[in-house]
Amino acid sequence: MKKKILVTGGCGYIGSHTIIELIQSGRYEVVSVDSNVRSTPETMDRVEKITGVKVKNYRVDICNGPAFFKIFEEHPDIQGVIHFAAFKAVGESIEEPLMYYRNNLGALANVLEACRHFNIKALIFSSSCAVYGEVQTLPVSEQTPMGQAFCPYAHTKQIGEEMIRNMMVPNPDMNALILRYFNPVGAHMSGLNGELSPDKPNNLVPIIMRVASGKQPSMTVFGDDYDTRDGSCIRDYLHVSDIADAHVKALDYLLEHRNEQQCEVFNLGSGNGVSVLEMLAAAEQVTGRKLHYVIGGRRAGDIPAIYGDSSRANTLLHWHCHYDVHDMMESAWKWEQYLDSKNI
Ligand code: UDP
Repeated sequence: MKKKILVTGGCGYIGSHTIIELIQSGRYEVVSVDSNVRSTPETMDRVEKITGVKVKNYRVDICNGPAFFKIFEEHPDIQGVIHFAAFKAVGESIEEPLMYYRNNLGALANVLEACRHFNIKALIFSSSCAVYGEVQTLPVSEQTPMGQAFCPYAHTKQIGEEMIRNMMVPNPDMNALILRYFNPVGAHMSGLNGELSPDKPNNLVPIIMRVASGKQPSMTVFGDDYDTRDGSCIRDYLHVSDIADAHVKALDYLLEHRNEQQCEVFNLGSGNGVSVLEMLAAAEQVTGRKLHYVIGGRRAGDIPAIYGDSSRANTLLHWHCHYDVHDMMESAWKWEQYLDSKNI
């Protein structure tokens, strides 16, 4: 029998791709809760087109405890929760820190409360490599100590991890996995689901796609004077469907009681560092278009290079990346063209 999972933030970028992988595994049935303040309900139509399954989304703000708990009352057979719902824009979190603390931590408090009250034994939490702060040694492993958070968003992830650990102590039946993502990019390989960026995206791949599609004439590479192989910053990009697949494997791990600790941490990265200029070259190759860019100054808060050691997830979750940078660009490009064709 399929196990029922509640996904928070199911209409979001990683949430929706995870729902697709959960359904396609054949082992899970999904209920979603998403307020749609940073996403659209049409995402569930895209999920249905890809999987053939209609997923119910409750348009509820998780910070509203009673409305959120009602979902568990309606679905007493929920066995696990994957908690994605959170604000994630670094710059906005610096401008509006309280909004980030209230939303991200208030939502998590209600998720933990629900897990305790409704006896949910498996929780998966979206964290970020941002919890490591400025790292001195690479690659980053789960043992790398947390550094100073460089923005309130990263701080909410650090505090969130601590909240989960502290909740485990008086609740010995609860189990949680904390997944620290590196840079998820790309779209579903069908090109039918992807990231719906704000009008002015801040992240590299959506900006590259805007330039490739002619929505933006040119872009800036933030610095070519770093101490890296070509002078531009290095990050650990991984395909969104790979990260989604990791969540299925993480749930399997918890629900099969393979975890040794009540709360365990896993890095999710490809293990490869790729520079901004290398990403641009890959995008030019895939799109067949010349991308106009200028070299600008360094972006405040950027670290020269970060990439992860995900061998713990490889060994214990049996998770491996299937897609490379070419696939990331190809799927992002397909998705961009799909959005253009629909005037989105
Ligand atoms: N970047 C860039 N130009 C842009 C956007 C991003 O050169 O218009 C660089 C940025 O400096 C960083 C990398 O691309 O080195 C990835 O940035 P992104 O915001 O996607 O992710 P981050 O790792 O900063 O969370």
